[in-house]
Amino acid sequence: MRQHRAVLAIAGLLLLGLQPQSGHAQGRFPDRPITIIVPFAAGGPTDVVARQLGEAMTRDLGVSVVSENVTGAGGTLGAQRVAASRPDGSNLLLGNIGVATAPSLFRRPPYDPLTQLDTVGLITPVPMILVGRSDLPANTLPELLAWLRRPNAEVNIAHAGLGSASHLCATLLRSILQTPMTAVAFRGTAPVMTEMMAGRIDITCDQTTNALPYVQDGRIKAFAATTAERLAALPNVSTTAEGGLPQLQVTIWHGFYVAHGTPRPIIDRLSQSLRAALADPAVVNRFRELATAPEPPERATPEAHRALLESEITRWKPILTAAGEYAD
Ligand code: ASP
Repeated sequence: MRQHRAVLAIAGLLLLGLQPQSGHAQGRFPDRPITIIVPFAAGGPTDVVARQLGEAMTRDLGVSVVSENVTGAGGTLGAQRVAASRPDGSNLLLGNIGVATAPSLFRRPPYDPLTQLDTVGLITPVPMILVGRSDLPANTLPELLAWLRRPNAEVNIAHAGLGSASHLCATLLRSILQTPMTAVAFRGTAPVMTEMMAGRIDITCDQTTNALPYVQDGRIKAFAATTAERLAALPNVSTTAEGGLPQLQVTIWHGFYVAHGTPRPIIDRLSQSLRAALADPAVVNRFRELATAPEPPERATPEAHRALLESEITRWKPILTAAGEYAD
């Protein structure tokens, strides 16, 4: 193991154009474009974050950093793509909280985030809002709860696939309310908005990075923010706790991952570039418009990210096991 690490470290130095003992950076990484794998649909909340970072990291790294949407299976297909990629730093996964919940949702998890991916840094903690179609006969969370609980109610709830953030929220909601709802899976929450505006989807939980503009111009309705405080962007929308659902609190954290075994100097360069992007005024302003903010520099590091990933896997496992939703 120690020998393996030493070989990886030397390989990393060589990739960076460093002589193992010289300590002089000549900067051969990156020497080719970098792809951010977005495991959900184009135009959705994860995609929006990736595009903002891609532009800023392109400025910082001097090579193009572009996103590619590799969708399906609740984001696990995109994660598997990165886990199986060459550990050379040219494929980054932008994963949300689902990276920590997926291992508890599959009887045979498609990949292991702790052994097949290496963390680069946390990006942004994004609030979720519980939203519904604009003609739904409820305007507040208590009215929505009454509507969901009416006898013989036929309600559908959309999510972005088993293991996604919206699936986590839908699972929590259904297990708290104990009322039947038909879950409908999409490849991301961008297509959910289209279906909701057409009146074919009743409710969903989505990150503000996607849903907020739709709520602000009245194309869909917001019933609650799943955060401890109300959102400044939606001052009239209550929190879940205020509206009678204190158990439904969830914030969607995001992080960058590379394939396990990527040399440490490369991870450090990517992490440094992430921190530069998070300080970029264009990113800060766009995040603010979407009711979120960059993680502080001390959290945009491989160590802080790894610690959160581990604690979140531990935190969600019993909750999801109790909710009893599994895929084979
Ligand atoms: N909001 C999605 C999720 O539930 C992700 C996306 O569409 O970007 O994880």
